[in-house]
Amino acid sequence: MRICWFNDNRLGVVKGDTVFDVSKVLEKLPKPTYPASRHGDTLIANLAALRGDLEAAATGTGIPAASVKFLSPVAAPTKIIGTPTNYHDHIAEAAKQSDVFTYKRPSSNIDDQGLFLKANSSLIGAGEPVRLRFPDRRSDHEMELGVIIGKKASNIRLEDALSCVAGYAIALDMVVRGSQDRSMRKSIDTYAVLGPWMVTADEVPNPSVLGFSLAVNGVTKQKSNTKDMIMTIERQIQFASEYYTLLPGDIIMTGTPSGVSQVKPGDVMHCEIDTIAAMDVRITADE
Ligand code: MN
Repeated sequence: MRICWFNDNRLGVVKGDTVFDVSKVLEKLPKPTYPASRHGDTLIANLAALRGDLEAAATGTGIPAASVKFLSPVAAPTKIIGTPTNYHDHIAEAAKQSDVFTYKRPSSNIDDQGLFLKANSSLIGAGEPVRLRFPDRRSDHEMELGVIIGKKASNIRLEDALSCVAGYAIALDMVVRGSQDRSMRKSIDTYAVLGPWMVTADEVPNPSVLGFSLAVNGVTKQKSNTKDMIMTIERQIQFASEYYTLLPGDIIMTGTPSGVSQVKPGDVMHCEIDTIAAMDVRITADE
């Protein structure tokens, strides 16, 4: 199933090129309480129970997908986790451009440097532009597979890791280059893109063999396959869960291959991942 948020916070199920508004199913979610409970994203946490209702609601006259504004398919993650340096060819290109990649890492080994976090407030969907807040600095695209956690997981065993996944989406780990800590440079408003929808895990039997690519203004910049990851998806989930309890809706951006490049206002990034989706994301100046 393909699940999205669109327009003015409507909930949708996507079939082919059509979005069905299934927002009435939200009435079946547990009522919100204050202060917010720390159980993760309420919809993702209840997705399995609501699946039949979502299927049943996705009928009638739909809306052309091309005409909706896609928001992030996860409304309220408790964290966005980034996996650094997870493709050999990206490590090589970073080493060759040390004047641009000035952030000092202890090593390029992921176990040594650990994962990082992006602020939740940076998250947008495919229908919203990435706004460049620092026009005089170099902002790059990093095209990645986004993994969306579906249930609470702490110290998860490797063989159980994929059973914790709710689904997958295209992720853009946007970054402004420089020497500051990654958590600052990758947390600028709009610098985490997820979309255009979440494909539930049952439709992605092997997330570790997905071809993907990113083109800017029609010119291919990044092209790779998730099989080329250094740290597997299973190990990333396990590694993260050794440090933080993963909660429904948490997002892991699983690393980028070579080909990262600077974006400018007016650019359009076309992103595709096999089985998952394609999406176009615009770059604008900050208003
Ligand atoms: Mn990245």
